[in-house]
Order: sequence, then C-alpha cells, then structure tokens
Amino acid sequence: MTAPAASNNLHSKLPDVGTTIFTVMSALANECGALNMSQGFPDYDGPEALREALGRHAMAGDNQYAPMAGVLALREQIAAKLLRYYGIEANPDTEITVAPGATEAIYCAITACIQPGDEAIVFDPCFDSYEPAITLSGGIARHIAMSEVDFSIDWDVVESTINERTRLIIINSPHNPSGAILNDVDLRRLESLVTQQHNLYVVSDEVYEHLVFDGERHCSILQYPGLRERSFAAFSFGKTFHITGWKTGYCVAPPALTAELRKVHQFVTFVAVTPVQLALADFMAAEPDFPASLAEFYQAKRDLFCDSLKSSRFGVRPSAGTYFQLLDYSPISDELDTELAVRYTREQGIASIPISVFCEAPPAGGYLRFCFAKREEMLLKGAEILCKI
Ligand code: GLN
Repeated sequence: MTAPAASNNLHSKLPDVGTTIFTVMSALANECGALNMSQGFPDYDGPEALREALGRHAMAGDNQYAPMAGVLALREQIAAKLLRYYGIEANPDTEITVAPGATEAIYCAITACIQPGDEAIVFDPCFDSYEPAITLSGGIARHIAMSEVDFSIDWDVVESTINERTRLIIINSPHNPSGAILNDVDLRRLESLVTQQHNLYVVSDEVYEHLVFDGERHCSILQYPGLRERSFAAFSFGKTFHITGWKTGYCVAPPALTAELRKVHQFVTFVAVTPVQLALADFMAAEPDFPASLAEFYQAKRDLFCDSLKSSRFGVRPSAGTYFQLLDYSPISDELDTELAVRYTREQGIASIPISVFCEAPPAGGYLRFCFAKREEMLLKGAEILCKI
C-alpha cells in the first residue's frame, strides 16, 4: 500500500505566503557565490566576552528551562538599559518578557490583540512577518503606503483609516527596509490618535533602536505616556550585539498587556534559550555602554558604502537608521525589483532584497535594499560591482 499523497487537502491558512525573501535571496547568493548584501546580518562576530560567557554557562550546566518570562538577571539588565538609554522605568517581573527573537515577541503581541474581524494598520513597505500573524488570528491588515521619497507616514491618512474595527497599529522605527526614523512629532501625533480611541493598541518594532545616525536619537514609544500604557515594544539583542543567530529579544509592555502576551508566548515557544540569556546578562552588566558605540560604528559603514557609490548610476539617499541602504535603480532600469534582484545576483554577483515584496501595491519607483553590516572590504567590493552597472 502506498502512503497517501502529501496533505494536499489541507486548506492553507496562508495561501499567499511563500518562503521569506530573506531565505530565498540568501540561498540564491550562496548558490551563485554572490556577495550577500541581502538578508540582514553582520559578517563579523559579536564581542568575544559575550561568546565566551555563552560557552561558560553551557559548560557550567546552565542548560535547563529558564523561567517563562526570561532569566531574572537578564530582565534586570534590560530594565537598567531602558533607564540608562531612555529614562524609562519598566518592572522586570510584570513588564519585561524575554523572547526567542523579536519576531516571536511581535507574533505573540499581535496574537494577544487581534480577534477575528479586527483590523491592524501596517505601513508599506512593511516587514514580512506582521501580516501573516494578523491573518492567522483572523484579522485584516490595512496597508498604508509610506512616502516613496522619504518614507514618512501621512498621519492624516492614518486618522481617516482608523475605524471601530481598528485594534492595532504596527510601527517600525528605525524602519526596515528604508532606514527612515519616526521623530518626536510623529510619535506625538500617534499618541494623540491612539489615546482618542478605546481599545486601540500599538506594536512598536524597535529592533534597530541603536542604529540611528547623524546625531539623531531614537524615540522609543515607551517614552510617551499615552503610548506606553497601550503598547508592546519589541527589541533585539541580535542587532545590538551582532548575534542574529542567537535569536533573542524582548518585549516591554504594561502589566495587563504583558500578562496577555505571556499567555501566548508560553504556548508558542514557552521560553528563550537559557545559557544565551545568562551570557547576555553578564555582558550587559560588564559593558553597559556597548550599545552607545553602535551609531558611530554603523554610520562609518553607511558612509563608506554611500561614498563609494558616488560614481554609480544608482540614486542614493543615505539611511537615517538601521543597517540597510536603499538604492534607487530607476535611472538604470525599469525592470521589476524582484527580477532585478535575482538577475544582479546571478549576473553581477551581488545579492540584495527587492522591496516590492513588502508592499500590498507595488511602489512606483524601483528600490533594492543592501545590508551594510559588512566588513570594509565587502562594502568596497559591493560598491565596486554596483558602480559598474
Ligand atoms: N530582519 C532581517 C532582514 O530584514 C532578516 C530576518 C529574516 O531573515 N527573517 O534582513
């Protein structure tokens, strides 16, 4: 007897979703031996003391489940960091939850908020994990396009989109993929919109919080009292300590929201990895200033990459934040960005991320996203290839 065919009767809950563009482009880059500036990860390691601490804790036998909310020593370090960098007080017991990656924290926050038929506002181009989480909870994503010039948000459009079914607004600053940042004026406007409504919440993806350039400072949603009381803010150790593969982040939310978040989190992954949390707690206690060094570190990379592109035909508007740089290829080609990204990987040996995949309606202009969390020689090599196109 032959086994039944693979479950082709399964009615997909995510019929329009394929493999993420990050996985697709990194795999293609590897297959072609191309310079991989697509998926966002550094080509250098996290601090030695941090990696040593992980080995030490693993060897010392710290290898069983952590508490569901996270190792207390790490939650205390997170509270100290919030105070140090933003002047924000957060209770490690009731307001901070360690998660196996910010993506999991965001998934749990969305799941905690969205009931069938609820609407969630997202801003295009928007990170690809948000909408599937909304859909799986029976919600509907309402996409609002950011400006195609500077990727700002038109809050009047947000105001007119909010209705009695709107349950959630998902923001992301510094913004992946554009690098744009929300400023104080943006967050005040959001605060006034949200506080006029009952039962409207915010998920704020702040994973690139320390990667803000040109003397600007990151505005956290947690600094605005009207937003603080109805927001879930997600952060990432991967971006801050160059350890994306450790998949560890955290969520800060007021006690009532944290309680609902944890109800979901405990059945999605239950906990984050124990020795990783202990290593992070040690490192943060020893090096509390490490995150403050990132802006200069990444600004130098952004500048090197952008300056080296001066003679190229691409349009370059240096990123305000993140470790991503958009290049406008409209002076060069009118191909679809999805096709161009594949062609450049195969023919030019450089991989990037097309941004139309993050949009409900394809943007009019053409942009490709390049990750500049790379060593100097890689940035120069990337720019050299791009200058010849
Ligand atoms: N956040 C990373 C990026 O934008 C990738 C995350 C992932 O691969 N899912 O490139």
